[in-house]
Amino acid sequence: MKLNIACISGDGIGPEIVAEAKKVLNKVCEKYGHEITYNDVLMGGCSIDAYGVPLTDETIDVCKKSDAVLMGSIGGNTSTSPWYKLEPSLRPEAGLLKIRKSLNLFANLRPAFLYPELKDACPLKEETANKGFDLLIMRELTGGLYFGERETKEVDGEMVATDTLVYRESEIRRIAIKAFEVARQRRKKVISVDKANVLDSSRLWRKVVEEVAKDYPDVELEHMLVDNCAMQIVKDPSQFDTVLTENMFGDILSDEASMVTGSIGMLPSASLNETSFGLYEPSHGSAPDIARKDIANPIATILSASMMLRYTFKLDKEADAIENAVKKVLSEGFRTTDLLGASVNTPEDKKCGCHRMGDLIAERI
Ligand code: NAD
Repeated sequence: MKLNIACISGDGIGPEIVAEAKKVLNKVCEKYGHEITYNDVLMGGCSIDAYGVPLTDETIDVCKKSDAVLMGSIGGNTSTSPWYKLEPSLRPEAGLLKIRKSLNLFANLRPAFLYPELKDACPLKEETANKGFDLLIMRELTGGLYFGERETKEVDGEMVATDTLVYRESEIRRIAIKAFEVARQRRKKVISVDKANVLDSSRLWRKVVEEVAKDYPDVELEHMLVDNCAMQIVKDPSQFDTVLTENMFGDILSDEASMVTGSIGMLPSASLNETSFGLYEPSHGSAPDIARKDIANPIATILSASMMLRYTFKLDKEADAIENAVKKVLSEGFRTTDLLGASVNTPEDKKCGCHRMGDLIAERI
């Protein structure tokens, strides 16, 4: 297969972690007989330095013409970088919002998986961590409260602020379809999270999700109220497979779910549109505090590349090969600095930097 990838390394640790993800992807393609092409483009602070804007039309064009986008992370130190003296629409993060909108990336997938080797880093009770968990939050990304009309005005001598939560049936249907499709590739269970005891938008959400579920009789559907879901994620995350939810609930729940894995450098993400196209990036930021020191953990980006193979190219065997190589490296005891807290007795020869971690994973493909 020919894989045509737009590649946004970005700022901070971005270029280091993307280089390791490319190394692993190249090894997978070599082993399984695929041809991969990278179209390297700029976004974020490096694009501001080169072109005066965080995202050019040319970058968007290259992304649109590619099968998928692999991204590192963008942004600098928000207190000291000159990028943050610019007006908000010209700062690095403006590029991120614009690219999501331009590519119509309405579905955000964030898996939270507890590696048995890293369970000491899990802040949950020992018996809960021992059970392990492997869940995926499917968050609607372009609708709801964050995109509704808002205003702040004075009424009867005091300030009143209003935000509007709007969902159209079509927006709910397309994200629900994505969730059921993804659940089919996992353990075939969708838990749809809403606040249907209070909100009209949630009652419509529930109705449309039930309609979509009829087309997926092999996938189990359960509804859960968002307040209960927040409790259940810390009580017993092993009960979840695919969690489907709207924008704001997903924003909060996905951060909660990633926190219980205890390791920010391990978490990949995908943002998809209606086709098989997607943008794949680690859940963490550009970590300017550790940039160019060869100490960043590249695993979140490497696992984002694995999601790309699975969701855009439907190359499950190849995606499994990456995930198994990551598991193998961890089970052999290798750790980047950020993971050492979970493995206090790591011997010196198992401690590795970004570059070596990439090498070790590529060697095990
Ligand atoms: P961050 O995720 O970059 O860093 C938080 C902490 O985690 C830091 O101590 C950092 O060193 C550490 N860390 C993050 N990734 C790591 C990795 N792979 N290996 C080892 N340690 C890692 O969050 P922040 O410091 O709040 O933000 C830094 C910049 O990143 C800001 O400009 C922010 O706007 C941007 N950001 C970008 C994205 C994105 O590109 N999607 C997402 C979040 C933040």
